[in-house]
Amino acid sequence: MKRTYVFKLYRSKKNKKLHRLIEIASSVYNHLLALQKCFYRFYKSYIPLYRLQKHLTKLKQFQRFCHWNQLGSQALQEIAERIDKGYKRFFDALRKKREWKVCPPRFKPARKYKSFTLKQAGYKLFEDHCIRIGKEKYKFFKSRTIQGEIKTLTIKRDSLGDIYLCFSCEVKNEKVQESMTGKNAGFDFGLITFCTSSDEEKIESPLFFKRQQKALKHAHRKVSSKQKGSNQRKKAHLVVARLHRKVFRQRRAFHFEQARLLISRYDALFFEDLNLNAMKKRYGRKINDLGFHSFLQIVKNYAEQRGKIVHLIDRFEPTSKTCSSCGHAIKDLDLKVRSWCCEVCCTEHDRDINAAKNIFRVGTSTLRLGDVRPNKLAIAV
Ligand SMILES: [Zn+2]
Repeated sequence: MKRTYVFKLYRSKKNKKLHRLIEIASSVYNHLLALQKCFYRFYKSYIPLYRLQKHLTKLKQFQRFCHWNQLGSQALQEIAERIDKGYKRFFDALRKKREWKVCPPRFKPARKYKSFTLKQAGYKLFEDHCIRIGKEKYKFFKSRTIQGEIKTLTIKRDSLGDIYLCFSCEVKNEKVQESMTGKNAGFDFGLITFCTSSDEEKIESPLFFKRQQKALKHAHRKVSSKQKGSNQRKKAHLVVARLHRKVFRQRRAFHFEQARLLISRYDALFFEDLNLNAMKKRYGRKINDLGFHSFLQIVKNYAEQRGKIVHLIDRFEPTSKTCSSCGHAIKDLDLKVRSWCCEVCCTEHDRDINAAKNIFRVGTSTLRLGDVRPNKLAIAV
């Protein structure tokens, strides 16, 4: 099992050197990408990884590119791997003919390029919150002990210029003991309530982005009032970046908290497999603000560690339009309708709870965890 530990590096003048290394990495990336793009234009295919890496070793011997050597050979090779991965994904998507538009990796300006990765060589960890990268020593706050074997170290910077160390470790599959509760539930994501469970519980979303929108508007206005290229404009940009980071952290904390709660309560959890790209097109930034995808990822990770089940049901299952008590499906249900009454069994339904119950029913029957057919159908049989 893989686990990543992230530590923040203390701010120091020395960090400039790391920023410089990231800039070098960006120039290598753009150089190799230009080669790939050229190759693609002529042959409609891409340069295989080993040839790209071989070419890279030749290039760095030239006077013109000798500054690339500051980065270390493994980090350089890893950049070639990144491009290779991007192109592989691009060709895979082309082959599968996805519904959304696919494009090959793009050029990245140095300020948008964020990280480089070291494998075994190029760094050394010391006992006292200290690390040597290249020839320089840096200090960071080691808030946790690193468990498992360190595979790679990625040095990453965020848009505020803070640098983070991300240790990717291979941990032995240690399952955290969590008592089984014997309860299963289905969950429906929604735009008005974040998540509704089939036990009729609702989790409201705090909509962190929406809360900061006023402040963001103000900050953006400050940016545009400053002269282009000036230091003041850079400072104003930092304010915007800080607000975005705050929103991101708040949302992530909320996700972790809720995921932890759900996993401790239930043994098997069922969700709907959402087509987020289509939803984004239709509902815009609110979908991003809710962050369903990252929430699901966190729930899955927790479940894997604690031996619980997360199952996604098919996205074309008509969960909202089916009555959860008799199984009668209605033809049309407008999004504005929050509650409706079944024509056949006259049950009053809350839209979200009904959907969650249906998700639960479909999920349990596909995993064969129990028979939860609609009541009346069961009687008729
Ligand atoms: Zn009904």
